[in-house]
Amino acid sequence: MKKLILDDVSVECLVESAGKSFHPEFLFPDFDPSIISEHEYWLLPRFIDHVSGRLLMSIHTYVIRTPDYICLVDTCVGNCKQRPSTPAWNDRQGPWLQNLKSLGISPEDVDYVVCTHLHVDHVGWNTVFRDGIWVPTFPNARYLFHRIEYEFWQENISLDPAARSGANDECFADSVTPVVQAGQAVLVESDHVIDRRLCFEASPGHTPGHICLNLQSGGKDVAFTGDLMHHPIQVACPDWNSRFCVDPELARDSRYAYLHDCAEKEKLVLAAHFASPTLGKVVPEKKGFRFAAVDE
Ligand SMILES: [Zn+2]
Repeated sequence: MKKLILDDVSVECLVESAGKSFHPEFLFPDFDPSIISEHEYWLLPRFIDHVSGRLLMSIHTYVIRTPDYICLVDTCVGNCKQRPSTPAWNDRQGPWLQNLKSLGISPEDVDYVVCTHLHVDHVGWNTVFRDGIWVPTFPNARYLFHRIEYEFWQENISLDPAARSGANDECFADSVTPVVQAGQAVLVESDHVIDRRLCFEASPGHTPGHICLNLQSGGKDVAFTGDLMHHPIQVACPDWNSRFCVDPELARDSRYAYLHDCAEKEKLVLAAHFASPTLGKVVPEKKGFRFAAVDE
């Protein structure tokens, strides 16, 4: 997406990886091909690859700049992370940090890091490997973790590395714990307010402490929706959870409530995995909603 400028605030999308991703029948346990057919007039070719049928997705960070601070929202997979359970993300080497610098931002410049939740593709660049240990990438930043989210993973992850299973277990030790040990983590509640522009909103279900972030500037509302939904088809079909949702019923309830709010307030929506141009709105359509990309 192009740089979004809202008065004295800007938002940019820093992409780590993008392209063909999951088959929809894998990602959505309730997948029904007739739903895709019904909505393909707006899903193709932008959000679904029409040859393979695979979902087009992206992993990216949002960079919010205000006159007072720089805030990163979600930090992707990261480099050098050992993810044996997920080969595509294992020991990844990519130019994310150089690309951040090309936006004119050094690691020292970042004031806040917000993780909408603590899944593996949202915490990776929290840390870098330096002199044999994982250290915070952003030495001057406060990393805002939702307390409920942090405590959930802390309680559910085995202290024995050999007993861990799955990338979401693997990432806690190298991408979350070092931030806490460095004294840079701030555990906050779901109604946390960074300033008059930027505030948290609870959206539990995908994970217990999942939050969305609301930005207000220049007379516009922007919703950073994390993994409240993984793909635009869930705007049309909010009942569909991803296979990674921890509490399916709660995830559904949060999705319905937040989508209605986005539509009613005509919010600009920035999800964590929607393909380029990424920016869009939730607009009424027949019985429900659809996602309308905003290209400007
Ligand atoms: Zn994700």
